[in-house]
Amino acid sequence: MGFLNIEKKKQAERDPVERVKDWREYKKAMPETEIREQAARCMDCGTPYCQVGVTLNRGTTGCPIHNLIPEWNDLVYRGLWKEAYERLAKTNNFPEFTSRACPAPCEGSCTAGFVSEPVSIKSIERAIIDRAFEEGWVAPRPPRRRTNKKVAVIGSGPAGLACADQLNKIGHNVTVFERSDRPGGLLMYGIPSMKIEKDIVDRRVNLLKQEGIVFKTSVDVGTDITASELRNNFDAVILCTGAGKHRELPIEGRGLAGIAPAMDYLTASNRYVLYGEELKPDFDARGKRVIVIGGGDTGEDCVATAIRQGCKSVVQFGKHGRLPDERSDKNPWPEHPNVFSLDYAYEEAEELFGRDPREYYIETQKFIGDKNGHVTGLETGSFLKNGTENKRLKHWDADMVLIAIGFQGAEDRLFDDFGINKDPSGRVIDAGEHSYQTSRDGIFAAGDARRGASLIVWAIEEGRKAAAAVDLYLDKKLSLLNQ
Ligand SMILES: Cc1cc2nc3c(=O)[nH]c(=O)nc-3n(C[C@H](O)[C@H](O)[C@H](O)COP(=O)(O)OP(=O)(O)OC[C@H]3O[C@@H](n4cnc5c(N)ncnc54)[C@H](O)[C@@H]3O)c2cc1C
Ligand code: SF4
Repeated sequence: MGFLNIEKKKQAERDPVERVKDWREYKKAMPETEIREQAARCMDCGTPYCQVGVTLNRGTTGCPIHNLIPEWNDLVYRGLWKEAYERLAKTNNFPEFTSRACPAPCEGSCTAGFVSEPVSIKSIERAIIDRAFEEGWVAPRPPRRRTNKKVAVIGSGPAGLACADQLNKIGHNVTVFERSDRPGGLLMYGIPSMKIEKDIVDRRVNLLKQEGIVFKTSVDVGTDITASELRNNFDAVILCTGAGKHRELPIEGRGLAGIAPAMDYLTASNRYVLYGEELKPDFDARGKRVIVIGGGDTGEDCVATAIRQGCKSVVQFGKHGRLPDERSDKNPWPEHPNVFSLDYAYEEAEELFGRDPREYYIETQKFIGDKNGHVTGLETGSFLKNGTENKRLKHWDADMVLIAIGFQGAEDRLFDDFGINKDPSGRVIDAGEHSYQTSRDGIFAAGDARRGASLIVWAIEEGRKAAAAVDLYLDKKLSLLNQ
């Protein structure tokens, strides 16, 4: 019942004015005494909604991997850190990723949050895994025995890594094929290092290598190795290729120079942060007036990246309105709260430029360019507000425009090669919720490729479930189903 007399503390962040000068993580770890106090706010309620992990009203309620949150809260409160880590590791293959970048649907459904502020679950998770690494508790543990089964995982994002980890632990021989030069998927080349530093990803990949997983990077499956070669050489194949096909904005002027998809921009920036001057992108925001089209998280990461590159100004367009400050009646607890927040990039923009960069109810109508074919601005037009159409034609100056209006699911080519069907939104429809097996014998799908663009924590859950399904397929064993 600690929540009655202990106030919730948010994870401390670095000063926005300072942190925009580098690419390091913007959050700071909480000191041990504070973390134990925060853990004491958990009331260990009879029905811990924080760990249910279901979809309610199209949002995630509770932790999708069913982290044993009240148990580790109590262990942390009592100072039993190793035991807390052991409980956490039972359900989460990569707490160092989720505790840094998860939107924490667990906190949205925490029972304490019904009457007060929710428990700081994500900060506690982070303290446990950081401590476990510091103490050396996270060590390579190769399986004692190997089976004679060979499994190919295509894609090394959180879904592919979790799937590979689970299958390797029980002795199957796992090879992960990755098109990029480094494993990690969007953890490596999508999510900026301000949220997850790349040595955190490398550290985990190295552990997986030491445990016996083989990584083959710079291998584009479908080009460098064919679908039929994989089918012939492996007992099972799992497609964890993400939902990387971006949504386009096919309006007048789209072909102008200076307009790019958000992911091209973010990937190039991440590569520069990793490799330095040798890979300095020629497409960067220094001195430019930047407009980001798309009000989601990818757009937010573009804002933060443009700020660090030294943009002159930055504006982000959203098609929808500003979220309310409090939950609306249509969004009751324990649903994920759809409420306004000043996230890291917006806080930084406010500090630097004196205003929140978000503009609402905006629809871009056309891009305008100069005689050299470079973008100079754009026009926004009619938009819908409260169900009625308004006309507000407005011109905006811009030297750089980033399109971040979402993803259209998995890329077609590989799925065509394997003969797998997708629905109109690009999700693999014939990989069932429970079987994860596609209509092709021995071919499975998991992560964003199966469910559409989502979250790290859902990708981990999908990777774990797909691994259990593959194991069942391979050995007709139930060994992973109870973990
Ligand atoms: C900019 C951005 C920021 C995000 N921020 C967050 C966040 O803060 N918190 C959060 O929870 N989620 C966030 N997400 C979402 C999260 O990153 C994804 O949901 C998650 O990474 C999906 O995991 P995955 O393993 O399914 O696919 P991915 O991470 O997309 O990995 C797929 C991998 O497959 C590889 N691949 C594809 N085709 C082939 C092929 N033919 N051969 C070989 N390899 C191939 C790709 O190169 C890639 O490495 C963000 C997403 C983006 C784009
Ligand atoms: S993985 Fe996400 S939802 Fe689950 S406990 Fe951690 S922060 Fe909460």
